[in-house]
Amino acid sequence: MARGGWMTSVRRVLALGFGRGRRALLGSLYPAVCPGCSGPAGVGDGPPALCDSCMDELEPVSTPYCLVCGEPFPLPTPAGFRCGNCRGRRMPFDFAIAPYVSEDLLLDLIHRFKYQRDWPLRQPLARLMLEVLEEPRVARLLAGDRRCWLVPVPIHWRRERRRGYNQAALLASALGDLAGLPVASCLRRTRATPSQAMLNRSARVRNLRGAFAPVTWPWIRTPKPGDNVLLIDDVLTTGSTASACARLLKRRFKVDKVVVITAARG
Ligand SMILES: [Zn+2]
Ligand SMILES: [Zn+2]
Repeated sequence: MARGGWMTSVRRVLALGFGRGRRALLGSLYPAVCPGCSGPAGVGDGPPALCDSCMDELEPVSTPYCLVCGEPFPLPTPAGFRCGNCRGRRMPFDFAIAPYVSEDLLLDLIHRFKYQRDWPLRQPLARLMLEVLEEPRVARLLAGDRRCWLVPVPIHWRRERRRGYNQAALLASALGDLAGLPVASCLRRTRATPSQAMLNRSARVRNLRGAFAPVTWPWIRTPKPGDNVLLIDDVLTTGSTASACARLLKRRFKVDKVVVITAARG
């Protein structure tokens, strides 16, 4: 499906979701300011959206992209294309996809969201993520008869206390509200691992060994065997964190498919 197709459907979903009464209410709750440029917000209903000129600044992940990790490629590629990183490698998740590339404005928004306590940004970021639910493979999964859960990538409780929130959990709950999907916070981080940023792929995998565990408290909703999971995070870079979580979801909760959805592709 062409990108325009996703967008139109997203607008339709939003139009259905926000009736007139709710629109009036939301209009008074949300100031009409674009979170990207502080100019007038994008025309639309519900939580604040980026304005049209900020949207134009984003670099969409459009075809062709790697069918496994969602990395976009500038040149035409053969059908079923996998990038050099993913070719011949078995990933624990089924595939990863993000709506936009993590650069310039989007990189800045995610930085503010993650490190500067600008948590209201969860709304416009979740609206961007809503677009990938229209990606044909994701749409097929959502149309299937198995339940589809949003599971946020966990951060360590100490980091969460320092930051005030887990950014992935905020994105999952905002996206869950927009798309009407259930959220299962069924993973936790057992170790505060050192930052992954300076590590290469194999060091990242080592760094994450045993870093996650399932949450099995009786009051936490968890996916049932055979259900599907959309694993939610802010950015996908090498995919090692997503891989560790996907492995655990399949092994411990016996879920069928794990699709990684992030606000941006690093
Ligand atoms: Zn703007
Ligand atoms: Zn790839």
